[in-house]
Amino acid sequence: MGAAALLGTASRVSAQVEARFDAADLAAAERLRDAALADGTAARLLTELCTGIGARPAGSAADAKAVAWAQQSLQQLGLARVRADAIPIRTWVRGAASARLLSPVPETLVMAALGNSVGTPAGGIEAEVAWYPNLAALRADGSSPETSLARGRIVIVDQKTERTRDGRGYGAAVAARAVGAVEAARRGAVAFGVRSIGTNQERIAHTGAMRYEIGVPRIPAFALSVPDAERLAQLHAQSAPLRLALQMDNRSDVEATTHNVIAEVPGSGPLAQEVVLISAHLDSWDLGQGAQDDGAGVAIVSAAAALIVKLGLQPRRTVRVVLFGNEENGFDGARNYGDRYGHEAHQWVGESDFGAGRVWQMRCRVDPVALPLVQRMAAVLAPLGVAWPEQGANEGSPGPDAGVLMRRFKWPALQLSQEGSAYFDVHHTVHDTLDRVDLGTLPQNVASWAVTAFLAAQSPLPFTLRAT
Ligand SMILES: [Zn+2]
Repeated sequence: MGAAALLGTASRVSAQVEARFDAADLAAAERLRDAALADGTAARLLTELCTGIGARPAGSAADAKAVAWAQQSLQQLGLARVRADAIPIRTWVRGAASARLLSPVPETLVMAALGNSVGTPAGGIEAEVAWYPNLAALRADGSSPETSLARGRIVIVDQKTERTRDGRGYGAAVAARAVGAVEAARRGAVAFGVRSIGTNQERIAHTGAMRYEIGVPRIPAFALSVPDAERLAQLHAQSAPLRLALQMDNRSDVEATTHNVIAEVPGSGPLAQEVVLISAHLDSWDLGQGAQDDGAGVAIVSAAAALIVKLGLQPRRTVRVVLFGNEENGFDGARNYGDRYGHEAHQWVGESDFGAGRVWQMRCRVDPVALPLVQRMAAVLAPLGVAWPEQGANEGSPGPDAGVLMRRFKWPALQLSQEGSAYFDVHHTVHDTLDRVDLGTLPQNVASWAVTAFLAAQSPLPFTLRAT
């Protein structure tokens, strides 16, 4: 071990001894927690957004309206430096779409085009079905049109989504939606349909982003409702040749503008330039009202920052709220934020994007030297029912946009896991509406975000991840 390494060890040990929050900061964090539980701001914001604006796909007129609403709301809540950073995007616009089973039984199917999908040729597509139980089975079916059953057919992949508390079931299934059309087109298919990546049994379809690959033909891609996918599976099991007619009329590469909406609780003193980023995404899919995905997150992090202002607390580091643009279909907001602010020191980044369910677990990714501070934060959250079960595991994953930034800049990260067992019943569907949100669980979320944001801003240590 060289002298430099020894010195490094010594400074880490002494840092560990000093790694304590001020008693006054801990007391303020407890006040934030308790005040949040009696605060109706998040419920009010979510109601306004869903009722007054509703669905807001990136680049749409409703998106622009949401950006104006968010700026006005954050200003009224007393946040500083409220602004909207413009982001040019190429967006996708849904058109009319239908799928019909022609044989063995004529039946109109409930479906939704996947985001980014091309439309069908003018007269639509009619073809036999090549059915697969999951994406792995499609991948196992040859590798070219010459060797695959998919050639000239409409591929249907019956990928099932397991119900889990933490979204693991969705994570395991979503590749079928994202890359299924590429795998099908490689094998000569003329269109691609996937069983909705969702956990409900209602006759509604779940949309979501898919992508193409350069050099692979772009075929139309859609999701079937779960009952319709099950019907096809049953008919397939009876060895009936299935024939489908498909009509889709979408527009791609439409030039538009979206925005990241940003507001701050300014820090004071020597650490004021460092940023504690708490975020959500303002855009939504077009089918519901974007209530749980991600109106809830918008309301939660906005209300959390507002509460720091309301209690008259002045953080050392700057607490910055970012409401990202176009998370759903391209992460343009996250990329733009990185381009503009990547040079600034970030204490940590977190994102609320998992509906309105209660927070049950805290995870983080910080310099190990800062773990005792995270443990102290967890103690403040414990009365809310938030656990810190992994202790030193230190492998938190902060949400989609914040995750993009964490990976790009190696910024430290906070994850507040929400109860999500029912989230994928409504995610990306017409049922993602205000009436299905339990507004009573929002204050516990606000409390969790307010406490962690404030204490991260007061930390005696940077959470910076060192290159190892
Ligand atoms: Zn989302």
